[in-house]
Amino acid sequence: MPNLSLTDIGGGKSNGLMFRMAGSTSALLVDCGRTASEQDFRSGVLPFPDPGILGVISEANIYARIKPYLGRTGITAIRHYISHCHLDHSGSDRVLRYLARELGYETWSSLFTAEVMGTRDYYDVDELFEVHYYEGEVPSEFGEFRITPHQVCHSTACAFILEIETPMGVIISMMDFTFQRYDDKQVVYTERLLGGLGQKKPLAVIVESIYADRPGETLTPQETVVTEAYHGILAEAEARGRRVIATFFGSNVNRTSELLCLAHDMGQKRTRLLGAPRQYYEDAKAAGGLGLGALERKLNIDASLEEADFLIASGCQAEPGSVLDRAVNADRILSSSRGSYLALGEEDTVVMSAIPIPIPGQEDRVLNLVEKILEQGAEVVVPTEWRELYRHRVLQYPRLRFDRVHVSGHESWYGLKRTLEELVKPKYVIPYHGEQWQRERVAQKVVQELPGIGVLMLNEGATITL
Ligand SMILES: [Zn+2]
Repeated sequence: MPNLSLTDIGGGKSNGLMFRMAGSTSALLVDCGRTASEQDFRSGVLPFPDPGILGVISEANIYARIKPYLGRTGITAIRHYISHCHLDHSGSDRVLRYLARELGYETWSSLFTAEVMGTRDYYDVDELFEVHYYEGEVPSEFGEFRITPHQVCHSTACAFILEIETPMGVIISMMDFTFQRYDDKQVVYTERLLGGLGQKKPLAVIVESIYADRPGETLTPQETVVTEAYHGILAEAEARGRRVIATFFGSNVNRTSELLCLAHDMGQKRTRLLGAPRQYYEDAKAAGGLGLGALERKLNIDASLEEADFLIASGCQAEPGSVLDRAVNADRILSSSRGSYLALGEEDTVVMSAIPIPIPGQEDRVLNLVEKILEQGAEVVVPTEWRELYRHRVLQYPRLRFDRVHVSGHESWYGLKRTLEELVKPKYVIPYHGEQWQRERVAQKVVQELPGIGVLMLNEGATITL
């Protein structure tokens, strides 16, 4: 009788996820994140905010959580897969290194993800661990499993879902994804991919739960919406002789390259990359380029701070040490020797192309940063979704504008429902990657709206046997 179990290890709890799929003699670990849960924030144990990282939980703590699950009678081989480079999926570098080096677990990821993990925490990737690179669509055999990575659209490069053939049937680990990012063909591609998986009559799909409460009536919009908004912002800035400072998550390296191309097309070549966007851009180049061909060499990312009229920088989450944070908090700059100091003034338009991540206190931190930028005389453009945050404040800020400067990298419930109902059609859904209440919300929606599909709850720290 085959034996298959799923365990929520949750290194860093639900938002710093990790799970184990175990057969009789072999097991897979998927992801190893380190973003803290709401509870971790409330309990005040977090050294938030740690430079550049949103809510870091100590890795000793993560390791303590993981340890009980590592050894198990009969399991003789474990292999580790990372879906993509975001911190909540791959951020626990030291734990990964321990697993790889001390226990000899192989780690598999895309080349880009490996580059990002390698530059984080100042480790050289080869020193961190030996990474085995995914080749999209190429299956690999491991113990009782056969694993095929499939590339999907998300707000960073090289995000993968995993098709895992097990003795009990196909199980799909479907982490963060959207149907489309840059063109209509991506919807067709994603539908074909998911429909193809559906033909294998999967036993279960493990889905993310974070965005279940964003119902949506359409698929998550394309990133081209953002590029168009920036076209308007850059054109207006040029006409008025203003400088534009764009901020978003640096891992959104496709957005960085789109905006660099836009600036190039507009003949506005005095561009400068700073902070995290620059680091990720360099990681992407090291991993084989940005897919821009000859254009890549023509893009300017090194205009001097004095002459640059379009900067792409870090700080959209008010991270201490980020370019925006240092620009508004001169006191921190005095004690910091890292990077360059950017002074903001009346000639500047700062664009916040992100939504505050949903952890307690984060909205206030970001809104306070915006207030400080406005106080320094700059104009600020924020996503239209922020109107809700400003419902009591907006009239006080004449220099604050709303525009479509952000789209999510996560699929709406509309898209997730369509995935489950029409394309993948699994026997069971396993809500995962989210707080316990978010997992329950997805479970409830599946029960109410998808009567043909069962729900298996993989609660925090629990094991389910399939
Ligand atoms: Zn992600």
